[in-house]
Amino acid sequence: MKIDLQNKPRLDQYRKLKWLIFFRGLFAAVLFGSAVLIGVHGNLTFFSKPLIFINSIAVGLLILSSLYSVILPRLYHLVRFGYVQIFIDTLIITGIIFVTGSFSSIFSFLYLVVIIYASMVLSRTGGMFIAFCACVQYGVLIALEFQGVIYPVGIEAGFIFKNYNWNYVLYKLLITIAACFGVAFLSGFLSEQERRAKKGMWAMEEQVKRVEKLAAIGEMASGLAHEIKNPLASLSGSIQFLREDIPYDPDRDRLMDIILREADRLSALVNDFLMFAKPQPGQTRIVDLNVALNEIIKVFMADNRRSRRIEVTYELAPAIFIKIDPEHLRQVLWNLLLNADEAIETEGHIHIKMSAPDKNHASIRITDNGCGMTEETIKTIFDPFFTAKPKGTGLGLSIVQRIITSYNGFIDVESAPGKGTTFNIQLPREMPS
Ligand code: ADP
Ligand code: MG
Repeated sequence: MKIDLQNKPRLDQYRKLKWLIFFRGLFAAVLFGSAVLIGVHGNLTFFSKPLIFINSIAVGLLILSSLYSVILPRLYHLVRFGYVQIFIDTLIITGIIFVTGSFSSIFSFLYLVVIIYASMVLSRTGGMFIAFCACVQYGVLIALEFQGVIYPVGIEAGFIFKNYNWNYVLYKLLITIAACFGVAFLSGFLSEQERRAKKGMWAMEEQVKRVEKLAAIGEMASGLAHEIKNPLASLSGSIQFLREDIPYDPDRDRLMDIILREADRLSALVNDFLMFAKPQPGQTRIVDLNVALNEIIKVFMADNRRSRRIEVTYELAPAIFIKIDPEHLRQVLWNLLLNADEAIETEGHIHIKMSAPDKNHASIRITDNGCGMTEETIKTIFDPFFTAKPKGTGLGLSIVQRIITSYNGFIDVESAPGKGTTFNIQLPREMPS
């Protein structure tokens, strides 16, 4: 099983397990080294009574560590592997405690070490689980010792009975259990926070990558769009020229009409796309919203076909200023008005209302009583290229949103199928200079 470098959580788990195996190996080597040192000092051999146990544990751990490092890259279920390893660690520690005096061993703190790294490598629940395993093992060990079933190594049988009373044993057991779970809780809490922070960082990295990719695609596509624009302009120009030059023939004229219309449509699409993929930075000015809206509405209503079937009403408010590139404002309102228009099939009504909800915001609401949208549609209307219209480009609202957010404003929408739609935009308000 190859490690997928794109899968960050998995890679992270893999790295943690690798470090765990490394440190376990190191621990085993140090254990072995110190046993050898003690042996040299005390003139003991490898197999002498107190050392044999430590030596076998160290050698066993070394063998296990090499085994783990060989199978780790071939495994799929990393988390399970982690559980197995750490569970085996608790068994080994119980072994160490047993050979160093059981109840009187000073090594019971090793459980805490295992619980801490279990929380780090596995999870909060992993840490709790290992704490539970440690407590059970320790409890069983002590109980067996007190029942006289097993005898602690190096201490003569019956020793415990003479030295400790039940209350003290129970007390120490309870303290150990409390320590195990306390440590599991704390380290679990910390590791959970680390995990969350990491997740946030990964998400941010992904986002950056996506944005970079989009920017690269946008760059390429906008280059292409520029290349399309020029031949398109020559095409329309030539047809118009031809049309004036050749004798009138209704059939031919209709065909030329189609060419011109489609060329216009293509050119509008390319323009929209350029606007979307590579918005021009814009020349911001302080704009009197009242004046700007008035102009745009006038141009919008000037279209004869439209004004006959759609009634446009508006409520404007004086002395509301915003800082914006007037061309951007025009683009935003035009796209929204056009959508409202297209949502009204035969006859209808569009209402434009401008207001200042507070001293820092200016708001424009555009309401139509057209076809409206379902909840499902609303979720996707701001996606580029989403359109419900046979000849739509699906770029209008993407451009609107892009422009509005670039001015730190926001846009929202309320709609009901068959009833109509309201788009509400809010932009930061400026005081005129
Ligand atoms: P286009 O107009 O090219 O389809 P837009 O991004 O402007 O692209 O709009 C996307 C879609 O959102 C439209 O196809 C339409 O389904 C829906 N929509 C936008 N405005 C309205 C509205 N005022 N009423 C109903 N539907 C709308
Ligand atoms: Mg549109």
